[in-house]
Formats: sequence, structure tokens, C-alpha cells
Amino acid sequence: EVPASSPVDPPAVSPAARTSEAAPRSFRHALVTGGAGFVGSHLCTALLAEGCEVTCVDDFCTGRRQNVAHLASHPGFTLIEADICRPFDIAPGARPPDLVLNFASPASPADYLRSPLHTLHTGSSGTWQALQLAHRYGARLVHASTSEAYGDPQEHPQSERYWGHVNPVGPRSVYDEAKRYSEALATARARVDGTDVGIVRLFNTYGPRMRGYDGRAVPTFIRQALAGEPLTVTGDGRQTRSLAYVDDTVRGILAMARSELLGPVNIGNPTEITMQQLAELIIELTGSRSGLRFIERPGDDPAVRCPDITLARGKLQWEPQTGPEEGLARTIEWFRRHATG
Ligand code: NAD
Repeated sequence: EVPASSPVDPPAVSPAARTSEAAPRSFRHALVTGGAGFVGSHLCTALLAEGCEVTCVDDFCTGRRQNVAHLASHPGFTLIEADICRPFDIAPGARPPDLVLNFASPASPADYLRSPLHTLHTGSSGTWQALQLAHRYGARLVHASTSEAYGDPQEHPQSERYWGHVNPVGPRSVYDEAKRYSEALATARARVDGTDVGIVRLFNTYGPRMRGYDGRAVPTFIRQALAGEPLTVTGDGRQTRSLAYVDDTVRGILAMARSELLGPVNIGNPTEITMQQLAELIIELTGSRSGLRFIERPGDDPAVRCPDITLARGKLQWEPQTGPEEGLARTIEWFRRHATG
């Protein structure tokens, strides 16, 4: 019988990485694909705040210009509108990038089910082009994979050694398999030509700049609660998610960038919450008078999802610091001040 998990094979050091004695890396120019998206825009902001130049490359298929509007006048910020499935580059004369954060990809089920081929193309050809660019400039590339690589998991919580349980022809496969392929591609590039790669498997992340209609639970519930509409909980509401606040996720990604790990490394918040508990907490925090409405659960929706973050704790000295009340309160505040479309 084939084992479901590998007994060995802890995440390796990227073959291109320097010696472990070296000081933590700092970066002078980061190129962020998908930088006008939810997570990408927070990465751009954090890197600029550290004094790093940032080039954001985005095709705006799910991202928004307003996500990076606050950066437009920053002298270190450059925005390039491009689809990363085709060869792309930094602006002529710009300093060569020493970090590539590959975050371009539709990420919410509503988005990737609407654009299944673009999602597969971005995970495959787009990741290929991002790796080409990183290799050409000798930059470290951190690739955003996902907890969806574990599919509907049969091990709980999920450690990086678990190989996953994905239906390759199910509706979510366009995202799950694109990410699994992109992990294989990035790992092969590291092994074959020494490209300096790190892979993070992000678990559900929430925070300001999510779109109210992107279909993910937190923005959907907040939008509905603020509008006084019933919160639409799928299934019986007992399926769990573990939700990380975006500032914590960004800290984890940048810790991975500064490390020499190839990974994959889970970045997520191990505190589990059921969908019903989440909905009730959001009703409480918004002071809404909304009730709950139970609706049909989408196909292939995982029943449980919780990261084992032993590796990130040990190797990156990272763990989440923001509890759900605090993170949701900040997100609700942002939704109150901004259009929720
Ligand atoms: P998002 O949709 O807000 O951002 C994705 C960005 O990528 C958008 O700005 C979109 O326009 C851009 N993009 C997509 N395809 C592109 C292409 N071919 N060329 C150029 N730009 C392209 O999603 P997000 O939540 O910010 O997710 C960002 C990354 O993090 C994704 O790779 C996603 O898979 C990963 N991730 C996110 C989460 C989460 O909870 N938010 C969890 C796991 C993994």
C-alpha cells in the first residue's frame, strides 16, 4: 500500500542559498506578481516601509488599482500592468530585483471557478515566467502555494509531510492542481538549475482590501452583517477553517523570504473556528441584527482545515500574533469605511 505521507523529507535548504552562518537577508528591490491583489498589496506596503523598492506586476483580473493607490506617489514603487503568463520584466533601467514574490493567481473559489483556464495558465506558465525572471537576475523567489494543496484532508492538522487528498477533476482542481504543479515546477527549478526558491503554503488569510463579493467567508459575512442581511452559512456550519490575519501572514512570508528554506512551509493560524462560530462572532462584533441562513455546501469543499505550524515556529521563529476578535475588528472597521463591492 502506498503511504499517504512521507516518513522523511523535511523541507530542504534551497540549493542556491548561502551558508547558514550568513546574516538574515535584506532586499533592495522586490518584484511582486499579483501585487495589486489582497495579500500582494499588503506585501508591497510592508516592503516599501522597510526601504525596499517594489515593482508590482498585475493584470487586474481579480486585483484592484485602488489596492495600491496609496503607494502610487511613493518614489520606490512601480506598477506594471502585465499578464505573467507571458514573458515580463522590470522597467528599463531599474535596479535588478533580488526578491520575487510570486503571488499572482485568482484565489477565491468564486474567482477561479469563473476563470478556470486563466487560473491553470497562471499557476503553470505564469510560475514558469516568474522563475525565469528570478533565475535571470539571481533573485530569491518565494512562491505562494496554498493549503488547498492538501485538498479535503484525511490528516488533521495538516503538516508539510502530508501529501494531500485532491480530486484532480473536481471543480476546485483548477486551483488545487495548478498550485500543486507550481510547487513541483519551483522545486524542480531549484534542483535542476539552482534557482533560489522558497515555497509557502498559505492557509486562509483575511483582512482589509478583501472584496465583499469575492465569495470567501469573512468578507461575505461582514458585508452581509453590515447590510443587515442574513449571513449565508454553507452546509451545517460545522466545517472548520483556521483564519490568519493578513499582517501575520505577511510577516511569515517575509520571514520565509529572508530564510534559506526551500519548503514548503505552512503559514497559517492553527486556531480552528467553525463557519457558524465565525458568523456569530461577526454578528457580535458588528453589532448587527442579522440572523443565519444555511445554504447548500459547494462541491469538494473541505470539511476541516488546520495548519501544523511546527516548522514555521522552529525554522522561521514565526507564529501568528493576532486573535480573531482583533483581526476581525480591524477588518470590519475597514469594510465600514470602504465600498464592499
Ligand atoms: P487576489 O485575487 O486578491 O490577488 C491575486 C492577484 O493576482 C490579483 O491582483 C490578480 O489581478 C493577480 N493576477 C492573477 N493572475 C494574474 C496573471 N496571470 N498575471 C498577473 N497578475 C495576475 O488573491 P489573494 O487572496 O491576494 O491571493 C494572493 C496569492 O496568495 C495567490 O497566489 C493565492 O493562491 C495565495 N493564497 C491566498 C490565500 C488567502 O487566504 N488569501 C490562501 C492561500 C493562498
